[in-house]
Amino acid sequence: MTFVHNNIGVVLCQDCLCVRPFSDARHMAEERCECGGEFCGCLHCECGVAMLRGGIRSGLALDLEDPADLAFWCEETGTRAPPEPTASRHHPTTLF
Ligand SMILES: [Zn+2]
Ligand SMILES: [Zn+2]
Repeated sequence: MTFVHNNIGVVLCQDCLCVRPFSDARHMAEERCECGGEFCGCLHCECGVAMLRGGIRSGLALDLEDPADLAFWCEETGTRAPPEPTASRHHPTTLF
C-alpha cells in the first residue's frame, strides 16, 4: 500500500499527536508543542494526520511506536486530556 503525498500543510506533534499548521520553525523543531514534544511535518506524519482526520483511532494503523489512547483525540489537544472547565468553585471542608 502506498500513500499519495497530499501535502496538506500540517505538522504533527510526536508526543501528543496534536495538529498544527505547517511552518518551518515547527518542522525544524525550533518551535515545540505546548506538551514539549517535537513537531514533524514529514510525509509519514501527514499521512497520520489524514488518517486521524479520517476517523482512524488505531495506534497500529497509524504505525505509532507507543500507541496512546486515541479515543479522545482532537486536532487541538491531540491525546492530551481536554482542559478542565475552569472550576472556580473550591471544595469547602465541612467539619461537621
Ligand atoms: Zn504535543
Ligand atoms: Zn514525521
